[in-house]
Amino acid sequence: MQFEAETQGTPTLIDPFGRQIDYVRVSVTDRCDFRCFYCMAENMHFLPKKDILSLEELDRLCSAFVDQGVRRLRLTGGEPLVRKGILTLISSLSRHLDSGALDELTLTTNGSQLKRMAPELAAMGVKRINLSLDSLREDRFHSITRWGKFGSVMEGIEAALAAGIKLKLNMVALKGVNDDEFDDMIRFCHARGMDLTIIETMPLGEIDHDRLDLYLPLDQVKQQLAQSWTLSPSRHKTGGPATYMQIAETGGRIGFITPLTHNFCESCNRVRITCTGTLYMCLGQEDAVDLRAPLRASESNDLLVQEIRGAIARKPLGHDFVIDRENNRPSIGRHMSVTGG
Ligand code: SAM
Ligand code: SF4
Repeated sequence: MQFEAETQGTPTLIDPFGRQIDYVRVSVTDRCDFRCFYCMAENMHFLPKKDILSLEELDRLCSAFVDQGVRRLRLTGGEPLVRKGILTLISSLSRHLDSGALDELTLTTNGSQLKRMAPELAAMGVKRINLSLDSLREDRFHSITRWGKFGSVMEGIEAALAAGIKLKLNMVALKGVNDDEFDDMIRFCHARGMDLTIIETMPLGEIDHDRLDLYLPLDQVKQQLAQSWTLSPSRHKTGGPATYMQIAETGGRIGFITPLTHNFCESCNRVRITCTGTLYMCLGQEDAVDLRAPLRASESNDLLVQEIRGAIARKPLGHDFVIDRENNRPSIGRHMSVTGG
């Protein structure tokens, strides 16, 4: 195939724009124990179990990507840690860390199960976790997550840090909801050696609220922060889409993910897979390839690898998110919990 390349005998996935795809995010479930109001409607309809990949299928799929040169795997959802048997899957995938085929096996989580699971995750080689927390005020946390338990998340944070896992907190900037908490969040994170990333809301999926009312461009957040902190650009990179700034007063870092104001597509190195095995080559585009059918069609991975390589050869240059102002509809109908954050 035209875009194939080989490094030292290991296949690599190169897209039509010469970008090496070595990072895969896999949603292991569409279910969640929270109902964050900007992410899900309160009465979500979840997928029937038969449509969801089994743990064995998820393992096979992830391993096929590793065989194709993927070096980083992030499990997400929904809430990945509420998937039954998740630790079995992570334990099994950690063989790729042991063999050196994988550089990183990581998670994005709401932290509700971490108190219980952090020691085992650390023992399985999970070194870094992204934890989503949009407020440090208990009452506000409840109105954002609807079903979340603030105390459990706080205990989860402490447990992960105690287990030696590096934490990065992700906070979605929500106008009129948590936009007075950036300073508190910086102090909270940096006092515990955690990075903080602020994320712009993305127009993904129908929710019970008006997305336009919530949208806060991060340029405004930066201006707000510059009044309290001395910010300087940082060259730090994590392989994700965030750009970082250093804060002189705390010595810590703050990241910004700005899908709407600044397109971060040109350096995109990743693809996403839903819990039903649909591969999205871009978070902000509808084009997708079904990997469940080739996975279930035969025990051999030949067909699966053929589909994966064909999909990467179709990866678009980027997305162009907009919130449709006239009709107030999201530009992409599927929820973040389906594609995986
Ligand atoms: N449940 C896990 C969690 O909350 O970390 C993992 C899945 S969640 C969909 C992943 C990330 O997506 C979270 O940080 C969440 O805040 C973010 N997210 C969800 N919907 C979003 C939206 N419409 N715009 C921006 N970020 C969103
Ligand atoms: Fe659940 Fe994460 Fe979505 Fe909140 S952001 S509802 S925790 S999937």
